[in-house]
Amino acid sequence: MKRPRFQSPTGMHDILSEDQKYFQKIYEVCENVANFYGFQKIETTILEETELFSRGVGVATDIVGKQMYSFRTKGGDYLTLRPEGTAPTVRAFIEHGMQNLPQPVKLWYFGPYFRHEKPQLGRFRQFHHAGFEVFGEESPIIDAQIIQIFYNILRELKLKNLIIEINSIGDNQCRPYYKKLLMSYLKSREQVLCSDCRHRLRENPLRILDCKEEKCQRIINQAPQIIDHLCGECHQHFKEVLEFLDEIELPYRLNPYLVRGLDYYTKTVFEIFEDSPEGRAQGALAGGGRYDVLVKLLGGKDTPTAGGAAGIERIIDTMKARQVRFRKEREPVIYLAQLGTLAKRKSLKLLEDFRKAKIQVSESFGRDSLKAQLSRADKIGVKYTLILGQKEALDGTIIVRNMKTGEQEIVKIEKVVREIKKKLKIRN
Ligand SMILES: [Zn+2]
Ligand SMILES: [Zn+2]
Repeated sequence: MKRPRFQSPTGMHDILSEDQKYFQKIYEVCENVANFYGFQKIETTILEETELFSRGVGVATDIVGKQMYSFRTKGGDYLTLRPEGTAPTVRAFIEHGMQNLPQPVKLWYFGPYFRHEKPQLGRFRQFHHAGFEVFGEESPIIDAQIIQIFYNILRELKLKNLIIEINSIGDNQCRPYYKKLLMSYLKSREQVLCSDCRHRLRENPLRILDCKEEKCQRIINQAPQIIDHLCGECHQHFKEVLEFLDEIELPYRLNPYLVRGLDYYTKTVFEIFEDSPEGRAQGALAGGGRYDVLVKLLGGKDTPTAGGAAGIERIIDTMKARQVRFRKEREPVIYLAQLGTLAKRKSLKLLEDFRKAKIQVSESFGRDSLKAQLSRADKIGVKYTLILGQKEALDGTIIVRNMKTGEQEIVKIEKVVREIKKKLKIRN
């Protein structure tokens, strides 16, 4: 086949009807969960000032260092297509004075994000996130609730064998000391690290713990673990988060090397995977944690915050791989066949009557052969076909055909909606 002249940009995809039903289902599940836990929906702008991310997400992160779509506008502003949802939500929280509302403020969002990554399995340059953020609450119960929310969403989507990986990366009190410790351990082994990690050693040694390169893995496995160096407050916080997770019986596993790729986390970080080799290879379905310093960092009042996001495309891929089925949207039970110009005109009006009665009707007004229309009705598997021919259109009647038995009866056209309701046992 010849390549069309225009195609969607590399790593970006149209969402066709086949996938729309997954998006719709996931959105519905997120919305129900959000309503249940008292989250308000927010939609932030697709473009943000570039500095929001360099300051909020961190200059030394892959996202800011390598993956942002940034440009200078004609007016001279530096803008970026949002690569993640937390910094924009914090920006909106501060901008709209939500610090003055009764706390906690709970916000959720669902939308497209952009990162210039190497396109590969489960990674797209335009992808979707569903995010949940809780502002103004420092209790570890919130960390546990955020984890529970994402776990519940994935379970509602009928994904099984989920595992939560969790770690604490400390705070400004205990992390600097641990960083030093890690640094001196890694420095003595610098020659063996991959080139990315040698670079990270200067900017953000914690990120090395995240490296998937085998030679780095061997070194990481012997490295000092932050969990052994938490300050009293962080230690207590983490202990309580785990106790809450035990209480609600969520399956979790401590991962001392989990740091997440962003700079703004403090204390709790988590990721949720499908517990299988493929699930691992694909990466986390959801992840997040606590980021107590971010609001202040971006110019707001000191506000403890926790949250996370789920990757919609990865969830869809997993649902497809596991052949998850869910109830289809309402299918038509009636097919409306017509023959001739007058019948066509009357059909249009009749279709509207059915729509008002909330009965799903299928038609193919473009086709003129009755045979083609009836075979289409057969294919869809409707219960009744209504046939409006030239004679019926003149008489003001319509034929109702029971597709199972083949029985036909003639009814007055103005009574057909009521008649069908009776047959389908729909009460007004
Ligand atoms: Zn490495
Ligand atoms: Zn600490």
